[in-house]
Amino acid sequence: MSLDQLESRLRQDLATLNLPPANWVPPRPDGALDVLVLGGGMLGLSASFALTRLGITHHRVLEAAPAGREGPWVTYARMQTLRSPKHLVGPAQDIPSLTFRAWYTAQHGEPGWQALGKIPRAMWQDYLVWLRRVLALPVTNGVTATRIRRGRDGLVA
Ligand SMILES: Cc1cc2nc3c(=O)[nH]c(=O)nc-3n(C[C@H](O)[C@H](O)[C@H](O)COP(=O)(O)OP(=O)(O)OC[C@H]3O[C@@H](n4cnc5c(N)ncnc54)[C@H](O)[C@@H]3O)c2cc1C
Repeated sequence: MSLDQLESRLRQDLATLNLPPANWVPPRPDGALDVLVLGGGMLGLSASFALTRLGITHHRVLEAAPAGREGPWVTYARMQTLRSPKHLVGPAQDIPSLTFRAWYTAQHGEPGWQALGKIPRAMWQDYLVWLRRVLALPVTNGVTATRIRRGRDGLVA
């Protein structure tokens, strides 16, 4: 299966699971977000996907770093691989066609997967970039949150 075919299977899997569901939080007249996630690293992306799956689609993720340079993987990390073994599912949650294994196998085949030891950190970054793209997660790069304060009407600004 090629990467294009995997992406097509993923679209089908998500549709079969009725994901994402319709947004269930009534939109506010002032357009305020339901959730703002600060940081678009591995966990920010996971949070955004989890919110989307729950039908909380009116959220946004702000990320200080440029796209593709979030988190430690291709910036300050010095270890060459992830510490976790390759079979942990991670941010794919429980969607098989979204896993690192599916992404890697689509490009390197089953023998490639069997031969892989620990996941190289730059490859993990590439996978996270792919995951964000195929899920169309609402991340805005190049924005640093500097202050959180009380806003009007009980909102957080
Ligand atoms: C070599 C190496 C191997 C590792 N192996 C593993 C492993 O196998 N398994 C594992 O679970 N973990 C591993 N880790 C730990 C890994 O760093 C964390 O699990 C992961 O990065 C946590 O994700 P995160 O989104 O919380 O943080 P990060 O990935 O650090 O992402 C946080 C993001 O928030 C952004 N940000 C910060 N402040 C602001 C702000 N004020 N406004 C906007 N954006 C902001 C940053 O730019 C960053 O992109 C490893 C780390 C290294 C370096």
